[in-house]
Formats: sequence, structure tokens, C-alpha cells
Amino acid sequence: MDTAGLEDSCLGYEVILTDDDASTPCCPHGPTLLFEKVAKRGEGGRRFYACSACRDRKDCNFFQWEDEKVSEARKLARELENKRRQPPFSQQQYSARFQQFIALPPDEKKFCQDCQLLLLAEETGAHAAHVCIPVAAAQLRRPSRLLCPLDNKKSNAQYLFTERTTRFLLGTLVALRFNKVLCVGTPRLHELIKLEYPSGEARPMKSLLLDIDFRYAQFYGQDEFCHYNMFNHHFFDSEASIAVLQAFLRESNGQKVVMVADPPFGGLVKPLANSFSRIAQAWTKQRILGSSNVNMPMIWIFPYFFEARILDCFPCLTMLDYQVDYDNHSLYKHGKTGRKQSPVRLFTNITAAEIVLPEEEGYRFCAICERFVWSLNKHCTKCNVCPSKDGRQWKHCSVCERCVKPSWQHCQSCGRCALPDHPCDQHQGEEGCYNCASPGHKRKACPRKHISSRRSTSKRGRVVQTKRRKERRKEKKNWKD
Ligand code: SAH
Ligand code: ZN
Ligand code: ZN
Ligand code: ZN
Ligand code: ZN
Repeated sequence: MDTAGLEDSCLGYEVILTDDDASTPCCPHGPTLLFEKVAKRGEGGRRFYACSACRDRKDCNFFQWEDEKVSEARKLARELENKRRQPPFSQQQYSARFQQFIALPPDEKKFCQDCQLLLLAEETGAHAAHVCIPVAAAQLRRPSRLLCPLDNKKSNAQYLFTERTTRFLLGTLVALRFNKVLCVGTPRLHELIKLEYPSGEARPMKSLLLDIDFRYAQFYGQDEFCHYNMFNHHFFDSEASIAVLQAFLRESNGQKVVMVADPPFGGLVKPLANSFSRIAQAWTKQRILGSSNVNMPMIWIFPYFFEARILDCFPCLTMLDYQVDYDNHSLYKHGKTGRKQSPVRLFTNITAAEIVLPEEEGYRFCAICERFVWSLNKHCTKCNVCPSKDGRQWKHCSVCERCVKPSWQHCQSCGRCALPDHPCDQHQGEEGCYNCASPGHKRKACPRKHISSRRSTSKRGRVVQTKRRKERRKEKKNWKD
């Protein structure tokens, strides 16, 4: 096989998931992840531990070679640093503060914008030099509007759902008769649920928010928020939170649990999938009745160009056409055509036909595919699917025997469809199966499909992975083409 295209090193990093939590070093964000640089083919790079949550070293600079000897003194210093970087209050303290706060007279209810903190009466003096604003009761119920969204590009960017998307999600869950929603990184959905279904005796819908942004802790009770890292399934307040999660996952009296997660997109798919399956396992354990081969219902919100990676981890998920949009992301907007369409989709194990996408927004039901699709996603009788992934109308290429993006053209010399200005002859030998590299079939028909190549260390496997990664990167870059 031609390796010319693979020489340009720096092909990214692979996460190596281990079960061995005890020996994994911790940063302020819990157990770190083991990374391996994907070097030239065949040679695995030297492995190292780095922060699971932060891609940017400015946010967390933890670094340790896998085989590095760490002195006791350094371990101790690390532990102190990890403690120092924890939130100023425990979840219990935050909840107690909230109770005190709501008891304050209206004109004494202040929020410090500099510290992003609800202030108790005796604290206002200490924040006198800060920007402190009055908060009305209604604002307390909408913390996602009060808090300023974190925007550090690489790790913690917070993209908040528009009202349209939040209401669509809630409406969908209600229609499906879910009444316990585990919100993983979805504070807006959590707050809308609380708003629409306030606490009380016969509360028809409950919500628990798991998020790394502990600022949210100050608005919720102990059974409504857990400080959680979804890249390593780490609960910062471990014992208390695990009990809260377990209780929440228990379905008594006909309760139905669903998980809705909207992770940061820079995020690594494999560790996320690992955390979600651990949550699903905890759900299975809590189940009193029912068969054990039912999966916890989930909706994982992520850009469409991660579809292959997500399905690699969770073959039971399907991608829906619904375009998720965000208030504070100009590119990720819902729209009928053009570049402004959001690339963010729902991946779910709920039967697609049961998730009704709004007709008035341009979705329709495809009776053959048995799912709702976007108006421009026209059913192709040759492929027998509604093929579009990116919201544009795709076209069928009879040579490739599949539908391709509208901007692509069939290239005679490459023997496949590509962008008109693609560099020719770089893809020889790349046809064939992405899973096992056999030229005889495509991945969909791969007899070894379920023997995942994700952990493959064979030369061939790595080459294939590298190509897939490159494809995905290209795909990511090109979603606007
Ligand atoms: N669209 C959602 C917000 C998604 S932004 C909404 O409107 O509710 C990503 C969310 O994940 C943010 O709330 C962010 O604080 C959280 N998050 C980011 N990194 C995380 C991590 N490592 N673990 C848990 N939550 C994280
Ligand atoms: Zn960290
Ligand atoms: Zn169809
Ligand atoms: Zn087709
Ligand atoms: Zn073609």
C-alpha cells in the first residue's frame, strides 16, 4: 500500500481506555486519560496521561508519561493542587446557600457577575468592588441566562440551546412519556423541565443535571445537580453523587428514565461513549422489572460528521435529521438552506419513527425509511434511503452506486466522487472496507464489522484508522462546502 500520504506525522491522538482506575493519576478534573500519539504506521507513540476534560493546556496542564516515575513529593504537591482547584463549596453547602438566598428580601438578592455567585447578605461587602446585579425570582429559575456562558474554545465552550430546540426536546420527551430526564451537560433542558414541571407532590417530570460547570450547583438542590465530568465518568463529590444518580435511575411506579447529553464537540467520542455506557449500566442495575437486554433510552447530541465514530461505539444509535441550534453560536443555526444550517444532530436508540420532527419547520415522514427527515433529504430509490446527512439535497452517482454531496462530482481518474478541486490520485487503494481494509467490500458489508477496528494495532488497521480520521477531518472541514 502506498504510504506517501501518511508520512506527514501528527495524525492525532488515540485514547486508550483502561479499567485500571487506581493507578491512573488524577488532575483537578479527576482521573486523567491515557493518550497515545498515532505516529507513523506500525509504531505506537509513547503513551502519556493528560486531562480528560481540557484540550487546552492553559486550562489544565497535567502531563505525565505512562512509564514516568513520579516522586512522593510531586504526588503530594499534585494532591494539594487538585484540592485547591475544587469548587469553593460542596453541593450540600451550595444547596444550603440557595435556601438562605431565596429567603432574602427581594432588594437584597444580588448576583456577583465577577464571581458568578449568588451573594448572601453578609457577603455583599466583600464584593463591593465587583459588578453585582439584583436578581429577580424569575431569573433564579433561568440560571443559564444569568450565568455567562463559558467560552474557552477548546474544552468548556458552552453552546446553549435556542428556545426552539429546548422546547422541541422537552415536547418530544413528554410525548414519549419519559418522566425522569438525566441531563448530561444540558443545563437549559434541565431548567426548562423545572420551570414547566415545578416541584410538588405530583411532579410529573423530574430532572437531574450532571455537569462540570459547578456554578450551576448554587441554583439546585442536592438531588438536582451533580458536579460531574463526562469524559471520565467522575463525580467530584463521589459518594453523595453516586447515591443521587442511583436513586434517580431507579424507575418506580411506572417511571421512565431517559438520558440527554450534549457534550462539547471538541470532545473525544470514545471516552464519552464509555461514560454513557457506565450510566446505562447503572440504569440496568436499578431495574426491578423487565428484561435485561433493554438499553437505557438516550439522546446524544453531536455533529453529524461524528456519525461513524458514534456508531462504532454504539451501533444501536441512529442519527436523526433534526437540526439542533444554539443561541450563542452563529454558525449552528437552524435554517432552510445554505451554510447557516446547524450540523448538530440527535443520535438516539429510541425508535426513530416515534420522534416526530416538526412539519412546520420543514420535516416530513418518510414511510420507507420509517423516520422523519428534512425536506431536502429526498428518498433515493436506488439507495433506498434518504441519504442526506448535512441538510442539503444529495444526488445519486450511478458509478459509485451511492448518493453523494451536491457539491461533489464523479472523478474519472480517482474512480470516485469528490469535490471538483480535489487533488487527484491521492486515494488509490483507499476504496474498500474501512473496517478490515479488504478491497472486496464496504464497511457496511464487512463480515468483521463487529470485531471493531478501533483498538486494532495491526499495521493495516492503523493505516485504515488514519485514513478514516483524515476523512473525518476533511468531512468536518467540508461540512460547509
Ligand atoms: N446545549 C446545552 C449546553 C451544551 S454546552 C444546553 O443548552 O443546555 C456543553 C455543556 O457540557 C455545558 O453545560 C458544559 O458546562 C458541560 N461540560 C463541558 N465539559 C464537560 C465535562 N467534561 N463533563 C461534564 N460536563 C461538561
Ligand atoms: Zn484536568
Ligand atoms: Zn426515506
Ligand atoms: Zn442514491
Ligand atoms: Zn461517483
